[in-house]
Amino acid sequence: MFKGILITKDDAGYQAQVQQIDNAVLPEGDVTVRVEWSTLNYKDGLALTGSAPVVRRFPLVPGIDFAGTVTESSNAAWKIGDKVVLNGWGVGETHCGGLAEMARVKGEWLVALPAAFTSRQAMAIGTAGYTAMLCVQALEKHGIQPADGEILVTGANGGVGSVAIILLAKLGYQVVASTGRLADAAHLKALGASTVIDRAELSAPGKPIGKERWAGVVDTVGSHTLANACATTKYRGAVAACGLAGGMDFPATVAPFILRGITLYGIDSVMAPLEVRRSAWARLAQDLDLDKLESMTREISLDEVPAIGQQFISGQVRGRLVVDVNR
Ligand code: NDP
Repeated sequence: MFKGILITKDDAGYQAQVQQIDNAVLPEGDVTVRVEWSTLNYKDGLALTGSAPVVRRFPLVPGIDFAGTVTESSNAAWKIGDKVVLNGWGVGETHCGGLAEMARVKGEWLVALPAAFTSRQAMAIGTAGYTAMLCVQALEKHGIQPADGEILVTGANGGVGSVAIILLAKLGYQVVASTGRLADAAHLKALGASTVIDRAELSAPGKPIGKERWAGVVDTVGSHTLANACATTKYRGAVAACGLAGGMDFPATVAPFILRGITLYGIDSVMAPLEVRRSAWARLAQDLDLDKLESMTREISLDEVPAIGQQFISGQVRGRLVVDVNR
């Protein structure tokens, strides 16, 4: 038996509860990991509350991320004692995840914990931080330089947004943070934003094309916010779209694409190939300011997790939450 969160759906309804879980619940996989730290992302909030059909099998341990130590392996790439990180691959959705003391997965899903990080720091980064790096790398690959102008980051107080701000600022970009929580402007500036704007400026239906402002955009919000961001991106600029915190729709026109030659990059962390993950984690090890990361990270115990899911849906979580699964 091991302690963890189990999501069940039956006559009693949809429930996420901390409990002792039988080892038999662990799915097939060639590597078993003693989880040290996990974390909560927006998608975990959806899974814990059942407010979107993220969980596809019941009963299931949620948690799309974990970091820990290999305790059993029949995969040649991993041996007992290896420190590993897992992000995505449907773990916490169709395959039992990281919000428990034990996990069993396919070895090919794992990345070695970078020497630069403890397992707690890797989870303070989590899928949110690794996705922020994928967005930054998309803008870099596009050729956007700090001298090209401002980079807009939407959902700035969220996990992806906050890490994107820290990374972009470190790389010398001028960051404009868009948030619904203007009271947190000083915090966002401490992370590296040079300007903080009210997300209401972007969230209402806008014009097909507007005044050019952004050299690049990291968007975690979707819907009108993404449409307006595209409409105000400078000639040949780029937008990295990774989120839907404000809605899954994209009520835009082709005008910014055909008149300004802007590029919209879709960012997916879940099924990203291993070389993409390794590259993102290597860049995080090189470019992430760990003191700033810690300043926006809060630690919680496994017992506190079920009650927090709803806070993601209502946009109340700030920064990153790490979960001590052994507490
Ligand atoms: P968080 O909940 O930590 O952050 C989301 C932020 O979005 C909030 O903090 C809030 O920021 C803003 N927000 C929330 N609700 C609304 C709303 N109705 N309208 C406008 N803004 C809103 O989530 P994460 O950072 O973990 O994830 C952000 C998004 O990215 C999610 O949609 C998630 O599913 C997606 N994602 C996608 C990945 C991928 O692979 N494509 C991977 C990781 C995340 P503020 O208070 O500053 O306004």
